[in-house]
Amino acid sequence: MPISKQYNYSLREHNTFGIDINAQEFITYDTVDELIAILNEIKDKGQRVLHIGSGSNLLFTKDFDGVVLHSNIKFIQFVSQNNQDIIVRVGAGVVWDDFCALMAQKNYYGSENLSYIPGEVGAAAVQNIGAYGVEVESIIQEVETIEIATALPRVFKANECEYGYRDSIFKNQLQGQHIVTAVVFRLSTIPILHLDYGQLRDLHSSTETPTAQSIRDAVIAIRKSKLPEPNELGSAGSFFKNPVVPVELFNDLAAVYSEIPHYVINGTQVKIPAAWLIDQCGWKGKCHGGAAVYEMQPLIIVNKNQATPADIMELASLIQQSVYNKFKIKIYPEVNYI
Ligand SMILES: Cc1cc2nc3c(=O)[nH]c(=O)nc-3n(C[C@H](O)[C@H](O)[C@H](O)COP(=O)(O)OP(=O)(O)OC[C@H]3O[C@@H](n4cnc5c(N)ncnc54)[C@H](O)[C@@H]3O)c2cc1C
Repeated sequence: MPISKQYNYSLREHNTFGIDINAQEFITYDTVDELIAILNEIKDKGQRVLHIGSGSNLLFTKDFDGVVLHSNIKFIQFVSQNNQDIIVRVGAGVVWDDFCALMAQKNYYGSENLSYIPGEVGAAAVQNIGAYGVEVESIIQEVETIEIATALPRVFKANECEYGYRDSIFKNQLQGQHIVTAVVFRLSTIPILHLDYGQLRDLHSSTETPTAQSIRDAVIAIRKSKLPEPNELGSAGSFFKNPVVPVELFNDLAAVYSEIPHYVINGTQVKIPAAWLIDQCGWKGKCHGGAAVYEMQPLIIVNKNQATPADIMELASLIQQSVYNKFKIKIYPEVNYI
């Protein structure tokens, strides 16, 4: 399909919360050349631009008064291979898990722990998606973009993307300035295993080295048992980031809550699971309007019954307040408010 333009278009099917808001204009494209043509046209009209993937980390708070773009650039190109490394270039509009499925099928290691994360390849590189001890930055070599203001291409090497925990240059200095068109990944034919997480540890006990496919299967089974399926119950996955606190504050809390789960980052900082903090405040299963805290995982806010953006934002803010009141820790949304 070439460039497709729709006006006053409902984005309900384009966000996993299932929020029914409208975009003034919604444009999809298939190629980089089409994207450049669209951007040149938008520049002349001075419209606001938002690029979305599958809307699995977005909370639309009101109608979007501008152009929403979506990529249909879908290709998976095997670029080169040496003894260990496989270089694969992937279009930004490819569904992330379709890429993971193909890599696992070929027994290329690197993306298997990130299996079944919703969304598309372009957003994965923006968000630095992570799960079960792996972040996507570990397999990214390059990110190809088009700058919105100039419609010019640029290639970011991985070390220029300033990756951090669910963070990148595309969410900070360059927020809303570049559109990812393709990502170059480096996979490995030699197993590089990350199996220190919960039920994945069981794979260690088998005598044979687990295949990428067997790790993928285990990851999917764990995810299905814990996380809501977006097409059954609206959510955007983890609503909050895990807070990083000074070691002094952690020590004070540990004196009261000896069981507090944590991960020591360095001599001065400790990361605490936001899910534990929220659970301690008694939020699991609680509702606010049509929004609710997911019963199986308190880090997730779900659209239980036709939630409005206000229901979700108010619930998030009540959770933030109660966590602060109890622990003196500020937690911040991982979800992008639009
Ligand atoms: C049930 C569930 C489970 C989840 N589990 C995880 C998890 O385990 N780990 C994790 O990290 N995340 C998780 N997420 C969050 C989400 O899947 C990721 O953040 C994902 O990368 C979002 O992809 P998307 O295509 O839906 O992007 P969107 O939500 O549409 O967009 C996310 C951001 O990327 C930008 N963007 C999108 N496409 C492009 C592009 N081509 N160029 C430039 N910018 C772009 C958007 O403007 C926005 O700022 C989960 C979400 C759900 C609903």
